[in-house]
Amino acid sequence: MKFNKPTQVFSGGSWHEVSGGRSFDVFNPATGEVFAQAADASREDVKEAINAAAAAKDTWAAMTSSKRASYLLKAADVMEKRQQDFVDALVGEGGSWIGKAMFETGYSIEALRAAAAMVFHMNGEVLPSEHGKVSMAVRQPLGVVSVISPWNFPLLLSVRGFAVAMAIGNTIVLKPSEETPLAGGLLLAEVFEAVGLPAGVFNVVTCARGGVQEVGDELIRNPAVRGVSFTGSTAVGKHIAGLAGSLLKKACVELGGKDALIVLADADMQRAVNAATFGAFMHQGQICMSVERIIVLQAVADEFIRRLVANVKKLGTGDPSAMGAVIGPLINEKQLRHVHEQVTDAVARGAQLLTGGHFQGLFYEPTVLAGVRPDMKIFREETFGPVAPVVIVADIEEAIAMANDSEYGLSAGIITGNEDVGMNIARRLETGMVHINDSSVNDEPNVPFGGVKSSGMGRQNGKFSVEAFSELRWVTIERGGRQYPPPFNE
Ligand code: NAD
Repeated sequence: MKFNKPTQVFSGGSWHEVSGGRSFDVFNPATGEVFAQAADASREDVKEAINAAAAAKDTWAAMTSSKRASYLLKAADVMEKRQQDFVDALVGEGGSWIGKAMFETGYSIEALRAAAAMVFHMNGEVLPSEHGKVSMAVRQPLGVVSVISPWNFPLLLSVRGFAVAMAIGNTIVLKPSEETPLAGGLLLAEVFEAVGLPAGVFNVVTCARGGVQEVGDELIRNPAVRGVSFTGSTAVGKHIAGLAGSLLKKACVELGGKDALIVLADADMQRAVNAATFGAFMHQGQICMSVERIIVLQAVADEFIRRLVANVKKLGTGDPSAMGAVIGPLINEKQLRHVHEQVTDAVARGAQLLTGGHFQGLFYEPTVLAGVRPDMKIFREETFGPVAPVVIVADIEEAIAMANDSEYGLSAGIITGNEDVGMNIARRLETGMVHINDSSVNDEPNVPFGGVKSSGMGRQNGKFSVEAFSELRWVTIERGGRQYPPPFNE
């Protein structure tokens, strides 16, 4: 894979040198080597991209739905041909295990296709009228939508952030994470350039960590921006939602999590162990809906822990481009220190380290901790690393209380032999999503994805993204039934 535009961003349908002419290095977390260089845009460059998106919005919104859909479908075809480039970038800059990179690329292609179908779902309603009017609730695109995405699933979360919004007639300015500018945005710009998307409909700006505040600020404050799609940490998401709210702009923010997997006494143990292992260790635990607390009923705790530890010890660590090395590097040094500090704190407070707990370079060994309690950092703070903390509880009531004892509320899993019991627990969990007999890690292009509490606001995917990125207007036609008070009449 070659990306040779180190000082350019994509706006108004073509590549432009950024005003300062600067680039920044993008590192391969597995090797520490420079993987690529990307342009370091300034506020001026962002303004230009937003102006291009604003200039394109009316024509794009007025285009027939099928024509708009055709661009997304063609983009999916081009991505399919360039799959290897996306996989290389996801592995090279994101530290993705190759299996995850292949899944993410394939799913992102399907997400584009699913978004294309949403052009036919800008549904309104015909309302009854007290005055015999034709009274309609009509959906219209917002206009320009800013999309800010994270590094952990950079391709998928960029696509999820913009695809439906764009399909229904909004124009987009995308800022991918500085850790993953290629998979998160610049390669997507090449795809949309290749399909001949009208100029200004899709724009990508990248910047180094130092410029994020300024660039991010413009992406929210600029008066032409009417909607914001943010996926990332709770700290930044709160700031963005607050700023957007103060300007009365629509914002959908998908944030962090501390998801629980509850294992009941009647659980199928193999399913429980597999769901826990996948949920806690896929992509080194760097998924917003990773299993970050395993809450196990005392009656089956010994067997569950024994089988979990044996299963985790089988996970290979190393070069993520090798199929066998399912545990790749953490994204950066800061993240590594954060994970290790939580493990150290838990052990100091009495948790038992059953496997893992060491690191080499940015590779953190898959780790299992038992005896985790609410006074430990690892119980409360998002870890975003390859650690499975096990909490043992006496009964179902305690399991529910433990699961809800969190500032977060993204997703959860419940493993049980009784679906009715599962449904009753599901109803009482304070999360946006919950999965019975599955891990908390789940996504499909048509489902309402999102969290409650500090995990976010708004829902993404399918018709829920249509709601998030459109304005519902009331339009009427008066046909003689409305009487004004007599003094006002001629
Ligand atoms: P982050 O918040 O540091 O960065 C996310 C994006 O925001 C990046 O593009 C970054 O450049 C940008 N950003 C940072 N500061 C900004 C500012 N002041 N103004 C505007 N933009 C700014 O998050 P991250 O480290 O990239 O991603 C990991 C986090 O994302 C985790 O907390 C994870 O749980 C969360 N996440 C949530 C979901 C979800 O759907 N709920 C999905 C994936 C990741």
